[in-house]
Amino acid sequence: MPCDGPAAVPLCVEFSGVTNDCLFCRIAAGEIPATVVHETDTTLAFRDIGPKAPVHVLVIPKAHHADVAALAEAAPALAGEVLAAIAAVAKAEGLEDGYRVIFNSGPHSGQEVAHVHAHVLGGRPLGPMLAG
Ligand code: AMP
Ligand code: ZN
Repeated sequence: MPCDGPAAVPLCVEFSGVTNDCLFCRIAAGEIPATVVHETDTTLAFRDIGPKAPVHVLVIPKAHHADVAALAEAAPALAGEVLAAIAAVAKAEGLEDGYRVIFNSGPHSGQEVAHVHAHVLGGRPLGPMLAG
């Protein structure tokens, strides 16, 4: 698919190797609305549409990488920027009592969206790490 203009750049095959059917690429491009809580040139943080805690924010790189391993291998500096964005979100959301960061990766994790994203969860005691 050709580039349509600046807003489409993160979606261009030439840049990302994906077509624009990736949900989080489309959110990063502003094509699908989201409640954005933090943004840098390279990262975006927005509220999860189905929150599992009082604070549930997703932090993504704007560039498409399928999961955390792909991101770390292809763009380690960007991976660090995602971590910095997670810390900034936790501070902005007032999570000084603690929070949990989850990168679901691959089928056993239940990853539904194949664009790497960190879940930042907090706002109450979160209990055991896994349900069962
Ligand atoms: P995962 O299962 O780790 O891939 O997480 C995907 C997350 O994306 C889920 O927690 C969904 O609730 C969330 N989600 C799906 N669609 C949207 C959307 N349009 N805006 C915000 N969050 C979304
Ligand atoms: Zn994507």
